[in-house]
Amino acid sequence: MTTETHTPQRDAYTRPAARFQDGRLDIRASALGQCRRALWYAATERPATNPPEPDSLTLLEAGNALEPVVVRAMQRDGWRVSAADRDRSQSVTVEVSERLTVTGHPDATGYLPPEGGAVAAVEQFLFGAEEPADAGDELVIEIKTRGPEAFKRWRTLGAERSHPESVAQAACYSLGLFGEVRDVVIATLDTGARRWDHEVIPASRAERAWREAGQRIAVLADHYEADGPDPDALPERDFTAADWKCKRCPYLNLCQPGEAAALEDETDAEPGEPVTDEAAQTALRDYEQAQSQNKASEQDKRTALKTLQRWLQTKGESKARLEGSAKTRTVGMVASRRYSVDHKRLNALLDHEQRAEIVTEQVSEYVRVS
Ligand code: SF4
Repeated sequence: MTTETHTPQRDAYTRPAARFQDGRLDIRASALGQCRRALWYAATERPATNPPEPDSLTLLEAGNALEPVVVRAMQRDGWRVSAADRDRSQSVTVEVSERLTVTGHPDATGYLPPEGGAVAAVEQFLFGAEEPADAGDELVIEIKTRGPEAFKRWRTLGAERSHPESVAQAACYSLGLFGEVRDVVIATLDTGARRWDHEVIPASRAERAWREAGQRIAVLADHYEADGPDPDALPERDFTAADWKCKRCPYLNLCQPGEAAALEDETDAEPGEPVTDEAAQTALRDYEQAQSQNKASEQDKRTALKTLQRWLQTKGESKARLEGSAKTRTVGMVASRRYSVDHKRLNALLDHEQRAEIVTEQVSEYVRVS
């Protein structure tokens, strides 16, 4: 394991996902979850046939630019965080095997906040205690930015299910910086609502994520051992063309040229009967009209129900009969109970296989007009 400081910033943040160096295959820590064939293309310096669109690059840069925002939000909440100096980033290299290393740049390290969060932190500052006695170990903090849907998914499923590579990445940094895999922190910003949250992954589970990631990429080291850095001796594909990883892969045309063309056709194809602009316009107006009628009748219903609730309260009863326009109706109070799950505590208690049995995911599609 080695750590070194890099300057300038360019090398630290734009280096390839994989490269051969000093007789070893070196994988970028943030690329641990990538397709192994794509990593081989990167290591053998094959030119990208499907470079990222400008919008994707903007998204990526915006995510990087927001990392200091997350650090400051954490500090306001009582965390002691040391963020990476982006002009002199600290590079961490961990040896997986004789032929394989993983290198990356930790976003931040820090200590869990004291009980009571920001208030307790201010008190500690006021009373001059520089380092709280129960601060615990310094931990790696991996910072992510996600759109609202991905943020919700991460919170509900936990990082080990939603973004396992981020846990392996943090575990790698922990090993490189501290010589052991400690608990790791995944801090995530919701770029839509601009709120943040965190998840602590216990050391044993972080270590397991690192082990699994290491076994996965070890196949590439074996491949290197057998064939050397041969650009034409390709490892198996990890995904099929329909997978989003292939759709966003910079080597899609190189890897699956026929499939890439088919995907384009599929994207261009209109599902079902074509709908004209005029028909869509009429549908939208129908929708607006139905929505405004619904709104008015929902408001009337709510006002009437409020009056009936007050009537029951006046009578001191929870149920009463009342003459309606066509028949006698029963008006009664109904208690409804809702149950909520504290996903953060659930995620802390259970490993991801157990959580997968409890928290399942369904995807439905609908049309939204805004
Ligand atoms: S196109 Fe798909 S299978 Fe091929 S290298 Fe890229 S991610 Fe891997």
